[in-house]
Amino acid sequence: MTNRVALVTGGSRGIGRAIAERLAKDGFDVAITYARNAEAAKSVTDTVEKLGRRALAIQSDSGKVEDNTALIGKVVKHFGRLDTLVCNAGAYPYGGPDTLKLEDIIRTLDLNLRGVMIEAIEAAKIMTKGGRIILIGSAFGERVPLPGISVYAATKAGLVGFAKGLARDVGPKGITVNVIQPGPIDTELNPADGAASESLRAVLAIPAYGKVTDVADLVGFVASEEASYITGTALSVDGGLTA
Ligand code: NDP
Repeated sequence: MTNRVALVTGGSRGIGRAIAERLAKDGFDVAITYARNAEAAKSVTDTVEKLGRRALAIQSDSGKVEDNTALIGKVVKHFGRLDTLVCNAGAYPYGGPDTLKLEDIIRTLDLNLRGVMIEAIEAAKIMTKGGRIILIGSAFGERVPLPGISVYAATKAGLVGFAKGLARDVGPKGITVNVIQPGPIDTELNPADGAASESLRAVLAIPAYGKVTDVADLVGFVASEEASYITGTALSVDGGLTA
């Protein structure tokens, strides 16, 4: 299990950063993408290298078709292979019919759904036995307990259908495809002391935000050999939001 390579999109901050670090600890060389903040990405690659693994940061906008189609090739060119893809980059538009803008709807579809589909399909073409495709969805893809998140919920629910279908396509090659569905996790996107935190805590069984490592630990397991018979499913790490 040495020399395995993982790619984490949106790996420079938040949940993606924790996933990149966890996979490095598990022995993966790690590529991450970021959209804007090269300095944050450099800090993650420094950490991965301190853990004794090779690292690569790629500026790549997961909402852009040309970036998505080129991404997997860049990782393979650098590392020679790709074993685990974690599609983590995502947008979280908030608003109802009166406030949501058309550009928010389009950007969210492009990033949360179309980008993931292209990246995963490109990865599936080159992955071999033991390959893992892991999509970061959301508990809101399964249950929508609050107003203002219809577009976000639709994209995250869409990932589950896509994962089930792709799992059927690549299962015979020994590649698994799964969605991990976090509940509220304390990040810049959804701070535990933010405006939505009280109403979010009210719909949880464990009334507290999760940590980025709660998600990263589940990703680490799904990426491992032990999870080779888990595919085409959605796994929750959500404090009971969907209970
Ligand atoms: P953050 O906003 O904290 O981090 C986002 C990361 O994605 C950054 O590394 C950012 O890089 C990168 N990024 C943003 N836009 C793009 C883009 N267009 N292309 C490539 N990379 C991009 O988000 P979280 O860590 O909170 O969320 C990560 C994932 O988890 C998302 O898919 C989100 O929907 C999902 N999720 C989060 C939950 C939460 O409560 N936090 C709950 C459920 C799901 P840069 O700084 O360069 O822009």
